[in-house]
Amino acid sequence: MYPRAFEYHRAKSYPDAVRMLGELGDDAKLLAGGQSLIPLMKLRLSTPAHLVDLNFIPGTSYIHCNGSLRLGAMTRHSEIAASAEAARLPILHDCAAGIADPQVRNMGTIGGSIAEADPTGDWAPVLLATGATISVTGPDGDRAIDIADFIQDAYTTALQPGELVTEISIPMPRSRDAGTPGESRGSTRDGGAYIALKRCAPVYASASVAVQLTLDNEECCREARIYLGVLGLTAKRVVTAEEALRGGPITAPHIEKVRQAVMDLAEPVSDMRGSAEYKRHAAGALAKLAVDAAFRRAQGECVEVTHLYA
Ligand SMILES: Cc1cc2nc3c(=O)[nH]c(=O)nc-3n(C[C@H](O)[C@H](O)[C@H](O)COP(=O)(O)OP(=O)(O)OC[C@H]3O[C@@H](n4cnc5c(N)ncnc54)[C@H](O)[C@@H]3O)c2cc1C
Repeated sequence: MYPRAFEYHRAKSYPDAVRMLGELGDDAKLLAGGQSLIPLMKLRLSTPAHLVDLNFIPGTSYIHCNGSLRLGAMTRHSEIAASAEAARLPILHDCAAGIADPQVRNMGTIGGSIAEADPTGDWAPVLLATGATISVTGPDGDRAIDIADFIQDAYTTALQPGELVTEISIPMPRSRDAGTPGESRGSTRDGGAYIALKRCAPVYASASVAVQLTLDNEECCREARIYLGVLGLTAKRVVTAEEALRGGPITAPHIEKVRQAVMDLAEPVSDMRGSAEYKRHAAGALAKLAVDAAFRRAQGECVEVTHLYA
């Protein structure tokens, strides 16, 4: 189906885009990669009268590492998947490389993904597990929002009218080389992993789990952040699973507790992707795999993670 007729506007800068949004009002939408918006427009589920294109604004697609990893909002999934800087947080590569197919990854942006806040999107659980901060700009200036406050509900964010996402910032992991101030070098290390179950590449996941761990002395779990994706209106933090890991070595019984906690928290519904029971068990199995991979990565092992297709 063809979208409703709209007027196209090309922004030259973020302030220009903010000005346009202010002038054009509620009937205007930002266009980033178009991988969510254009299909919705073709189905006439979204019918904006104006599109403000962000694609020609210079300097909005970048991956910088200085203290934290900073990703420009217009950075494409494929750029993150291919980036040596982003690979310092392997969980980012797990996520970016598994989104849909090359066409979607080459166009879709991380800023558009989190602004869309699709409950089945891959970025939310990963950015929540890594404690990302979202920078936005708007008519009242710039502000930084913790990702946990940014995503408020399904398709609902903290963005106010006229605001747009400019940058995603993620704390760099502690590593053997970096050490932690006040501690011996290599005593504290971070590792994370993200695994999703998909029916095939060009579809959204049926379930997903993101895990970020901090280990002391390569063994003792100091901190754990575990988020379940897809099986709820927003990504869900699995606090009981985190508690099961915190404060000791990570062994098979601990990982089993994580699996059970994830299954208990999941709220799947039966649909074309599978029955509720199937998804609940899948989420538990993904959690085990993700904890294992994150743990081994935090110990310094190079672990390759790919999504599972079934
Ligand atoms: C076939 C297919 C399969 C897909 N599979 C997956 C998948 O498995 N996992 C996954 O995570 N995603 C998937 N996607 C979605 C894809 O990741 C999109 O890239 C993403 O959802 C939206 O990013 P975009 O840059 O295309 O945004 P757009 O579609 O351009 O915009 C999405 C929304 O965000 C707003 N927006 C865009 N940029 C900004 C900004 N900087 N600030 C504020 N608002 C903004 C737009 O106005 C619009 O409302 C799939 C898409 C398709 C078409």
